[in-house]
Amino acid sequence: MNKPRLLFVHTGGTIVMKGDAGPLQPVLQDVLSYARGLEELVEVEGLSLCNIDSSDMTPEHWEGIAGTVAKHRGDFDGFVILHGTDTMAYSAAAVSYLLHQLDRPVVFTGSQRPIADLRTDARLNLVHASICATLDVPEVGIYFGDHLFRGNRTTKVSVQSYNAYGSPSLPALVEMGVDVAMPTPCRRPTGRFQLRRGFERDVAVLTVFPGMPADTLRRVVDAGARAVVLSAFGAGNLPLDGWPDAIAESGVPIIIGTQCLHGAVELGRYAGSKAALDAGALSAGNLTQEATLTKTMFLLAQDVDFRDGWAMDLAGELNGA
Ligand code: ASP
Repeated sequence: MNKPRLLFVHTGGTIVMKGDAGPLQPVLQDVLSYARGLEELVEVEGLSLCNIDSSDMTPEHWEGIAGTVAKHRGDFDGFVILHGTDTMAYSAAAVSYLLHQLDRPVVFTGSQRPIADLRTDARLNLVHASICATLDVPEVGIYFGDHLFRGNRTTKVSVQSYNAYGSPSLPALVEMGVDVAMPTPCRRPTGRFQLRRGFERDVAVLTVFPGMPADTLRRVVDAGARAVVLSAFGAGNLPLDGWPDAIAESGVPIIIGTQCLHGAVELGRYAGSKAALDAGALSAGNLTQEATLTKTMFLLAQDVDFRDGWAMDLAGELNGA
């Protein structure tokens, strides 16, 4: 029987780093030599897009990853994207919006320790990510620790743990233990695959704090931000003093998220968020900050009304399967 064919797309990250006498730096190395035995399960080809710390990722890199998947879609059963952990959740969310009606797995993975370390988590992440890329899970996911999560529901929760990611609003798509479990129904394409393009970079995220002047929002909008994500308190609550007016007068989409990891924004639950809602703010619901920001950047670059686009489920960031 033919083995599943996978394309490993290399972008960098700790997984391939070395730091002999200074900070960890990406070095190009053959990760496959550290995952001996994988060739018995899958046929792998590799391609290097870049070799960077993921803090240097840009929307052009997101488009590069999505474009690579689109270009090679016909030749491979699944894709494994090797990526730094720091911004993997942004990249996975962004790429999920670009790969409309995706029909095969695109699995991001990386590691907390370089693959050449004795105590590395990279080897198992790579092997498990590869197995996930052969499953019937046509989604952009992040494989890390023991789980495959939907990429646009995922957030980095630990710099220490080998389970570096959490998915606060959707259970894992795949759980890797002694057996492989798939507890959550995944998305399925309902139409023709399409590669989408474009992200607006002139956006801002403001973390709201007690006593923060609403003029900060005005200054950011005056400086050219085409949308602002406000990381607000609890269920999306904001100070009353000056904020509703600043939102109403901004003239750009203002999206309200929360500083909490679990639960959803519910504008109108308290007076501060009711006033923000009446002033025209949008709710980020239970989207992660990564999914909120990248959806904002994506929608601003599309030919759609922002409010209409915001309400749409683009890639499972709002709905379950
Ligand atoms: N700084 C690294 C990166 O995001 C961290 C990692 O890969 O774990 O590229």
